[in-house]
Amino acid sequence: MGEAAHDVGVELTVLATFDGDAAVATADRVIIGDARDAAALDRLSREVDVVTFDHELVDLDLVAALERRGVRVHPSASALRYAVDKAHQRTNFAAAKLPVPRFVVTTSGHDPALAELLGSLHNGAVVKVARGGYDGRGVIFVDDPADVPAIVDGLGARVVVEERLALRSEAAQLVVRATDGSSLHYPLVTTVQADGLCVEVRFPTDLSSATADDAASIAFRVGELIGAVGVLAVELFVTDDGLVINEVALRPHNTGHWTIEGTATSQFANHLRAITGQRLGSVEPRAANAVMVNVVGADRPGSPDAARAIPGTYVHDYGKSWRPGRKIGHVTAIGDDAAVTRVTAWSGARAYGTRTREVT
Ligand code: ADP
Repeated sequence: MGEAAHDVGVELTVLATFDGDAAVATADRVIIGDARDAAALDRLSREVDVVTFDHELVDLDLVAALERRGVRVHPSASALRYAVDKAHQRTNFAAAKLPVPRFVVTTSGHDPALAELLGSLHNGAVVKVARGGYDGRGVIFVDDPADVPAIVDGLGARVVVEERLALRSEAAQLVVRATDGSSLHYPLVTTVQADGLCVEVRFPTDLSSATADDAASIAFRVGELIGAVGVLAVELFVTDDGLVINEVALRPHNTGHWTIEGTATSQFANHLRAITGQRLGSVEPRAANAVMVNVVGADRPGSPDAARAIPGTYVHDYGKSWRPGRKIGHVTAIGDDAAVTRVTAWSGARAYGTRTREVT
Protein backbone atom coordinates (compact mmCIF):
# COMPACT_ATOMS: atom_id res chain seq x y z
CA MET A 1 0.00 0.00 0.00
CA GLY A 2 2.87 2.30 0.81
CA GLU A 3 4.38 1.78 -2.63
CA ALA A 4 1.07 2.76 -4.26
CA ALA A 5 0.47 5.86 -2.13
CA HIS A 6 2.41 8.46 -4.07
CA ASP A 7 0.91 7.43 -7.40
CA VAL A 8 -2.54 8.24 -6.10
CA GLY A 9 -1.51 11.48 -4.41
CA VAL A 10 -1.65 10.18 -0.86
CA GLU A 11 0.80 11.37 1.79
CA LEU A 12 1.38 8.42 4.05
CA THR A 13 1.87 8.39 7.82
CA VAL A 14 2.53 4.90 9.11
CA LEU A 15 1.91 3.74 12.65
CA ALA A 16 4.48 0.94 13.00
CA THR A 17 5.61 -1.09 15.98
CA PHE A 18 9.30 -0.56 15.22
CA ASP A 19 11.40 1.34 12.72
CA GLY A 20 12.46 -1.87 10.95
CA ASP A 21 8.86 -2.51 9.93
CA ALA A 22 8.64 -2.97 6.15
CA ALA A 23 6.05 -0.20 5.74
CA VAL A 24 8.39 2.39 7.29
CA ALA A 25 10.54 2.54 4.15
CA THR A 26 7.56 3.75 2.10
CA ALA A 27 6.22 6.31 4.57
CA ASP A 28 6.38 10.10 4.50
CA ARG A 29 6.06 10.15 8.28
CA VAL A 30 6.30 7.43 10.88
CA ILE A 31 4.87 7.07 14.35
CA ILE A 32 6.31 4.25 16.39
CA GLY A 33 3.69 2.65 18.56
CA ASP A 34 1.24 -0.18 18.94
CA ALA A 35 -1.99 -0.15 16.93
CA ARG A 36 -3.79 -1.32 20.10
CA ASP A 37 -2.54 1.61 22.16
CA ALA A 38 -4.94 4.56 22.59
CA ALA A 39 -2.17 7.16 22.81
CA ALA A 40 -0.53 5.95 19.60
CA LEU A 41 -3.87 6.01 17.76
CA ASP A 42 -4.52 9.53 19.07
CA ARG A 43 -1.21 10.74 17.73
CA LEU A 44 -1.85 9.13 14.37
CA SER A 45 -5.36 10.50 14.02
CA ARG A 46 -4.26 14.06 14.82
CA GLU A 47 -1.83 13.96 11.90
CA VAL A 48 -3.97 12.47 9.13
CA ASP A 49 -7.21 13.04 7.21
CA VAL A 50 -8.22 9.39 7.13
CA VAL A 51 -7.12 6.24 8.93
CA THR A 52 -7.00 2.79 7.33
CA PHE A 53 -5.48 -0.61 8.18
CA ASP A 54 -3.23 -3.24 6.67
CA HIS A 55 -3.89 -5.84 9.34
CA GLU A 56 -6.67 -6.75 11.72
CA LEU A 57 -4.79 -6.80 15.01
CA VAL A 58 -6.65 -3.79 16.30
CA ASP A 59 -8.80 -2.98 19.31
CA LEU A 60 -12.25 -2.33 17.86
CA ASP A 61 -13.35 -0.28 20.90
CA LEU A 62 -10.44 2.10 20.42
CA VAL A 63 -11.19 2.38 16.71
CA ALA A 64 -14.86 3.09 17.47
CA ALA A 65 -13.79 5.76 19.99
CA LEU A 66 -11.80 7.51 17.25
CA GLU A 67 -14.87 7.51 15.02
CA ARG A 68 -17.00 9.03 17.79
CA ARG A 69 -14.49 11.87 18.02
CA GLY A 70 -15.02 12.59 14.33
CA VAL A 71 -11.89 10.90 12.92
CA ARG A 72 -12.54 9.43 9.48
CA VAL A 73 -11.80 5.71 9.69
CA HIS A 74 -12.23 3.41 6.65
CA PRO A 75 -13.23 0.69 7.01
CA SER A 76 -15.23 1.52 10.16
CA ALA A 77 -14.94 -0.43 13.41
CA SER A 78 -18.34 -2.03 12.80
CA ALA A 79 -17.23 -3.22 9.34
CA LEU A 80 -13.85 -4.41 10.66
CA ARG A 81 -15.58 -6.57 13.23
CA TYR A 82 -16.58 -8.97 10.46
CA ALA A 83 -12.93 -9.64 9.71
CA VAL A 84 -11.80 -9.73 13.34
CA ASP A 85 -14.51 -11.98 14.74
CA LYS A 86 -15.49 -15.16 12.91
CA ALA A 87 -18.50 -15.70 15.19
CA HIS A 88 -19.89 -12.25 14.40
CA GLN A 89 -19.28 -12.87 10.71
CA ARG A 90 -20.95 -16.29 10.52
CA THR A 91 -23.94 -15.21 12.66
CA ASN A 92 -24.70 -12.07 10.67
CA PHE A 93 -24.11 -13.62 7.26
CA ALA A 94 -26.45 -16.48 8.12
CA ALA A 95 -29.09 -13.99 9.29
CA ALA A 96 -28.74 -12.17 5.95
CA LYS A 97 -29.16 -15.49 4.10
CA LEU A 98 -25.64 -15.38 2.69
CA PRO A 99 -24.19 -18.86 2.08
CA VAL A 100 -22.07 -20.07 5.02
CA PRO A 101 -21.30 -23.59 6.32
CA ARG A 102 -23.70 -24.91 8.97
CA PHE A 103 -22.23 -23.73 12.26
CA VAL A 104 -22.64 -23.14 15.98
CA VAL A 105 -20.97 -20.42 18.07
CA THR A 106 -20.18 -21.64 21.56
CA THR A 107 -17.80 -21.54 24.51
CA SER A 108 -18.82 -24.93 25.91
CA GLY A 109 -18.47 -28.51 24.74
CA HIS A 110 -21.75 -29.27 26.50
CA ASP A 111 -23.84 -26.82 24.50
CA PRO A 112 -27.02 -28.62 23.27
CA ALA A 113 -26.88 -26.70 19.98
CA LEU A 114 -23.35 -28.10 19.46
CA ALA A 115 -24.55 -31.65 20.13
CA GLU A 116 -27.29 -31.18 17.55
CA LEU A 117 -24.89 -29.93 14.89
CA LEU A 118 -22.35 -32.69 15.60
CA GLY A 119 -25.07 -35.33 15.29
CA SER A 120 -25.79 -34.21 11.74
CA LEU A 121 -22.23 -34.13 10.36
CA HIS A 122 -21.01 -36.59 7.74
CA ASN A 123 -17.62 -35.23 6.78
CA GLY A 124 -16.11 -34.15 10.09
CA ALA A 125 -16.04 -30.76 11.79
CA VAL A 126 -13.86 -27.66 11.80
CA VAL A 127 -13.30 -25.77 15.05
CA LYS A 128 -12.17 -22.15 14.69
CA VAL A 129 -11.33 -19.71 17.45
CA ALA A 130 -13.58 -16.71 16.92
CA ARG A 131 -10.76 -14.20 17.27
CA GLY A 132 -7.03 -14.10 16.75
CA GLY A 133 -6.47 -16.93 14.23
CA TYR A 134 -4.86 -16.42 10.83
CA ASP A 135 -3.10 -18.43 8.10
CA GLY A 136 -4.64 -21.63 9.46
CA ARG A 137 -3.64 -20.96 13.09
CA GLY A 138 -6.66 -21.38 15.32
CA VAL A 139 -8.35 -23.73 12.81
CA ILE A 140 -8.65 -27.38 13.88
CA PHE A 141 -9.98 -30.13 11.60
CA VAL A 142 -11.68 -32.91 13.53
CA ASP A 143 -12.51 -36.17 11.75
CA ASP A 144 -14.66 -37.65 14.49
CA PRO A 145 -17.36 -35.22 15.71
CA ALA A 146 -17.34 -37.02 19.08
CA ASP A 147 -13.91 -35.45 19.73
CA VAL A 148 -15.18 -31.89 19.30
CA PRO A 149 -16.62 -31.17 22.80
CA ALA A 150 -13.29 -31.88 24.53
CA ILE A 151 -11.46 -29.71 22.00
CA VAL A 152 -13.90 -26.85 22.55
CA ASP A 153 -13.53 -27.09 26.33
CA GLY A 154 -9.75 -27.33 25.98
CA LEU A 155 -9.59 -24.11 23.98
CA GLY A 156 -11.49 -22.21 26.68
CA ALA A 157 -12.50 -19.54 24.17
CA ARG A 158 -15.45 -18.58 22.03
CA VAL A 159 -15.32 -20.76 18.95
CA VAL A 160 -17.16 -21.40 15.73
CA VAL A 161 -17.77 -25.11 15.11
CA GLU A 162 -18.82 -25.81 11.54
CA GLU A 163 -19.35 -28.62 9.08
CA ARG A 164 -16.32 -29.63 7.08
CA LEU A 165 -17.33 -29.15 3.47
CA ALA A 166 -16.12 -31.25 0.56
CA LEU A 167 -14.31 -28.61 -1.48
CA ARG A 168 -13.96 -28.76 -5.22
CA SER A 169 -11.66 -25.77 -5.04
CA GLU A 170 -11.35 -22.36 -3.40
CA ALA A 171 -11.74 -18.91 -4.89
CA ALA A 172 -11.48 -15.29 -3.86
CA GLN A 173 -13.56 -12.34 -4.94
CA LEU A 174 -12.20 -8.86 -4.35
CA VAL A 175 -14.44 -5.84 -4.54
CA VAL A 176 -13.55 -2.26 -3.88
CA ARG A 177 -16.20 0.04 -2.43
CA ALA A 178 -16.06 3.81 -2.45
CA THR A 179 -17.39 6.05 0.33
CA ASP A 180 -20.59 6.64 -1.68
CA GLY A 181 -21.26 2.88 -1.84
CA SER A 182 -20.35 2.56 -5.54
CA SER A 183 -18.17 -0.44 -6.23
CA LEU A 184 -16.15 -2.44 -8.72
CA HIS A 185 -15.19 -6.09 -8.65
CA TYR A 186 -11.88 -7.59 -9.67
CA PRO A 187 -11.87 -10.77 -11.74
CA LEU A 188 -12.52 -13.90 -9.69
CA VAL A 189 -9.39 -15.92 -8.87
CA THR A 190 -8.69 -19.50 -7.85
CA THR A 191 -6.74 -19.87 -4.61
CA VAL A 192 -4.73 -22.96 -3.79
CA GLN A 193 -4.22 -23.80 -0.11
CA ALA A 194 -1.85 -26.19 1.61
CA ASP A 195 -1.69 -26.65 5.39
CA GLY A 196 -4.16 -23.82 5.92
CA LEU A 197 -2.03 -21.36 3.97
CA CYS A 198 -2.63 -19.86 0.53
CA VAL A 199 0.25 -20.97 -1.69
CA GLU A 200 -0.90 -19.83 -5.12
CA VAL A 201 -3.46 -17.54 -6.77
CA ARG A 202 -4.51 -18.00 -10.40
CA PHE A 203 -6.33 -15.77 -12.85
CA PRO A 204 -8.50 -16.72 -14.64
CA THR A 205 -10.43 -19.41 -12.79
CA ASP A 206 -11.79 -22.45 -14.60
CA LEU A 207 -15.21 -21.80 -13.05
CA SER A 208 -18.28 -21.05 -15.15
CA SER A 209 -19.35 -17.50 -15.81
CA ALA A 210 -22.51 -18.20 -13.80
CA THR A 211 -20.32 -19.08 -10.80
CA ALA A 212 -18.25 -15.94 -11.36
CA ASP A 213 -21.44 -13.85 -11.42
CA ASP A 214 -22.52 -15.55 -8.23
CA ALA A 215 -19.19 -14.72 -6.56
CA ALA A 216 -19.48 -11.06 -7.52
CA SER A 217 -23.06 -10.90 -6.30
CA ILE A 218 -22.16 -12.51 -2.95
CA ALA A 219 -19.26 -10.07 -2.50
CA PHE A 220 -21.42 -7.04 -3.32
CA ARG A 221 -24.08 -8.22 -0.85
CA VAL A 222 -21.40 -8.70 1.81
CA GLY A 223 -20.01 -5.23 1.11
CA GLU A 224 -23.41 -3.66 1.46
CA LEU A 225 -24.33 -5.58 4.61
CA ILE A 226 -21.16 -4.63 6.43
CA GLY A 227 -20.77 -1.13 4.99
CA ALA A 228 -17.24 -1.79 3.77
CA VAL A 229 -15.14 1.05 2.37
CA GLY A 230 -11.97 0.15 0.49
CA VAL A 231 -10.97 -3.34 -0.59
CA LEU A 232 -13.10 -6.23 0.61
CA ALA A 233 -11.82 -9.74 -0.05
CA VAL A 234 -14.31 -12.58 0.16
CA GLU A 235 -12.74 -16.05 0.34
CA LEU A 236 -15.06 -18.67 -1.08
CA PHE A 237 -15.41 -22.44 -1.01
CA VAL A 238 -16.46 -24.01 -4.30
CA THR A 239 -18.70 -27.00 -3.52
CA ASP A 240 -21.09 -29.24 -5.45
CA ASP A 241 -23.90 -27.11 -4.05
CA GLY A 242 -22.39 -23.79 -5.12
CA LEU A 243 -20.30 -21.12 -3.46
CA VAL A 244 -20.02 -20.86 0.32
CA ILE A 245 -18.29 -18.02 2.19
CA ASN A 246 -15.15 -18.94 4.10
CA GLU A 247 -14.07 -15.57 5.40
CA VAL A 248 -13.72 -11.88 4.64
CA ALA A 249 -10.90 -9.36 4.91
CA LEU A 250 -11.35 -5.60 4.80
CA ARG A 251 -8.02 -4.54 3.35
CA PRO A 252 -5.79 -5.27 0.40
CA HIS A 253 -5.48 -9.02 0.58
CA ASN A 254 -2.96 -11.69 -0.32
CA THR A 255 -5.35 -13.07 -2.96
CA GLY A 256 -5.20 -9.66 -4.69
CA HIS A 257 -1.41 -9.23 -4.87
CA TRP A 258 -1.51 -10.37 -8.51
CA THR A 259 -3.35 -7.12 -9.37
CA ILE A 260 -0.09 -5.14 -8.96
CA GLU A 261 0.97 -6.38 -12.39
CA GLY A 262 -2.19 -8.17 -13.51
CA THR A 263 -4.78 -5.38 -13.69
CA ALA A 264 -4.85 -1.74 -14.76
CA THR A 265 -5.20 -0.54 -11.16
CA SER A 266 -3.82 -2.57 -8.26
CA GLN A 267 -5.88 -3.40 -5.19
CA PHE A 268 -3.56 -1.14 -3.19
CA ALA A 269 -4.12 1.92 -5.40
CA ASN A 270 -7.85 1.29 -5.43
CA HIS A 271 -8.00 0.86 -1.66
CA LEU A 272 -6.32 4.23 -1.19
CA ARG A 273 -8.52 5.83 -3.86
CA ALA A 274 -11.63 4.47 -2.15
CA ILE A 275 -10.78 5.63 1.36
CA THR A 276 -9.72 9.11 0.16
CA GLY A 277 -12.88 9.64 -1.89
CA GLN A 278 -11.21 9.48 -5.32
CA ARG A 279 -12.72 7.87 -8.38
CA LEU A 280 -11.90 4.15 -8.50
CA GLY A 281 -9.46 2.95 -11.17
CA SER A 282 -10.11 0.34 -13.85
CA VAL A 283 -9.87 -3.30 -12.81
CA GLU A 284 -9.32 -4.57 -16.38
CA PRO A 285 -6.80 -7.43 -16.64
CA ARG A 286 -3.54 -6.60 -18.42
CA ALA A 287 -2.91 -10.13 -19.64
CA ALA A 288 -4.90 -13.29 -20.29
CA ASN A 289 -3.24 -15.09 -17.37
CA ALA A 290 -1.66 -14.22 -14.05
CA VAL A 291 -0.23 -16.46 -11.35
CA MET A 292 0.97 -15.32 -7.92
CA VAL A 293 2.96 -17.67 -5.70
CA ASN A 294 3.58 -16.87 -2.04
CA VAL A 295 7.12 -17.30 -0.80
CA VAL A 296 7.01 -19.04 2.56
CA GLY A 297 10.44 -19.33 4.17
CA ALA A 298 12.09 -22.74 3.86
CA ASP A 299 14.63 -23.92 6.44
CA ARG A 300 17.47 -22.15 4.68
CA PRO A 301 17.19 -18.54 3.47
CA GLY A 302 16.88 -18.07 -0.29
CA SER A 303 17.28 -14.94 -2.34
CA PRO A 304 14.92 -12.58 -4.14
CA ASP A 305 17.72 -11.85 -6.62
CA ALA A 306 17.78 -15.49 -7.71
CA ALA A 307 14.07 -15.15 -8.45
CA ARG A 308 14.59 -11.88 -10.32
CA ALA A 309 17.13 -13.61 -12.56
CA ILE A 310 14.31 -15.70 -14.03
CA PRO A 311 12.82 -13.84 -17.00
CA GLY A 312 9.18 -12.80 -16.63
CA THR A 313 9.04 -12.80 -12.83
CA TYR A 314 7.84 -9.87 -10.74
CA VAL A 315 9.43 -10.34 -7.35
CA HIS A 316 8.11 -8.68 -4.20
CA ASP A 317 10.31 -8.82 -1.13
CA TYR A 318 8.44 -7.71 2.01
CA GLY A 319 11.66 -6.82 3.77
CA LYS A 320 10.94 -9.19 6.66
CA SER A 321 13.61 -11.26 8.32
CA TRP A 322 13.78 -14.88 7.11
CA ARG A 323 12.01 -17.36 9.35
CA PRO A 324 10.96 -20.86 8.30
CA GLY A 325 7.20 -20.87 7.70
CA ARG A 326 6.92 -17.07 7.45
CA LYS A 327 5.44 -15.38 4.35
CA ILE A 328 8.31 -13.21 3.23
CA GLY A 329 7.38 -12.23 -0.30
CA HIS A 330 5.64 -13.29 -3.46
CA VAL A 331 6.37 -13.81 -7.14
CA THR A 332 3.93 -12.99 -9.92
CA ALA A 333 4.00 -13.80 -13.63
CA ILE A 334 1.55 -12.67 -16.29
CA GLY A 335 1.26 -13.80 -19.90
CA ASP A 336 -0.69 -15.18 -22.82
CA ASP A 337 -0.13 -18.82 -22.02
CA ALA A 338 -1.51 -20.27 -18.78
CA ALA A 339 1.00 -23.10 -18.42
CA VAL A 340 4.04 -20.93 -19.14
CA THR A 341 2.82 -18.24 -16.75
CA ARG A 342 2.44 -20.80 -13.97
CA VAL A 343 5.84 -22.36 -14.57
CA THR A 344 7.46 -18.91 -14.53
CA ALA A 345 5.86 -17.89 -11.24
CA TRP A 346 6.76 -21.19 -9.57
CA SER A 347 10.33 -21.16 -10.88
CA GLY A 348 10.72 -17.72 -9.37
CA ALA A 349 9.26 -18.74 -6.02
CA ARG A 350 11.46 -21.83 -5.83
CA ALA A 351 14.56 -19.83 -6.67
CA TYR A 352 13.55 -17.36 -3.93
CA GLY A 353 13.45 -20.27 -1.46
CA THR A 354 9.81 -21.02 -0.81
CA ARG A 355 9.12 -24.16 1.15
CA THR A 356 5.71 -24.56 -0.48
CA ARG A 357 5.19 -27.05 -3.28
CA GLU A 358 3.06 -26.86 -6.36
CA VAL A 359 -0.33 -28.52 -5.89
CA THR A 360 -1.67 -29.95 -9.11
P1 ADP B 1 -7.54 -18.58 8.52
O1 ADP B 1 -8.54 -17.60 9.08
O2 ADP B 1 -6.51 -18.99 9.50
O3 ADP B 1 -7.01 -18.19 7.17
P2 ADP B 1 -9.60 -20.22 7.36
O4 ADP B 1 -10.86 -20.17 8.13
O5 ADP B 1 -9.52 -19.41 6.11
O6 ADP B 1 -8.36 -19.92 8.30
O7 ADP B 1 -9.29 -21.73 6.98
C1 ADP B 1 -8.08 -22.09 6.34
C2 ADP B 1 -8.35 -23.17 5.31
O8 ADP B 1 -8.93 -24.30 5.92
C3 ADP B 1 -9.35 -22.77 4.23
O9 ADP B 1 -8.76 -22.05 3.18
C4 ADP B 1 -9.83 -24.15 3.77
O10 ADP B 1 -8.88 -24.75 2.91
C5 ADP B 1 -9.87 -24.91 5.06
N1 ADP B 1 -11.22 -24.82 5.68
C6 ADP B 1 -11.65 -23.91 6.58
N2 ADP B 1 -12.92 -24.11 6.93
C7 ADP B 1 -13.36 -25.19 6.24
C8 ADP B 1 -14.61 -25.90 6.15
N3 ADP B 1 -15.68 -25.54 6.86
N4 ADP B 1 -14.67 -26.97 5.32
C9 ADP B 1 -13.60 -27.35 4.59
N5 ADP B 1 -12.39 -26.73 4.63
C10 ADP B 1 -12.26 -25.66 5.44
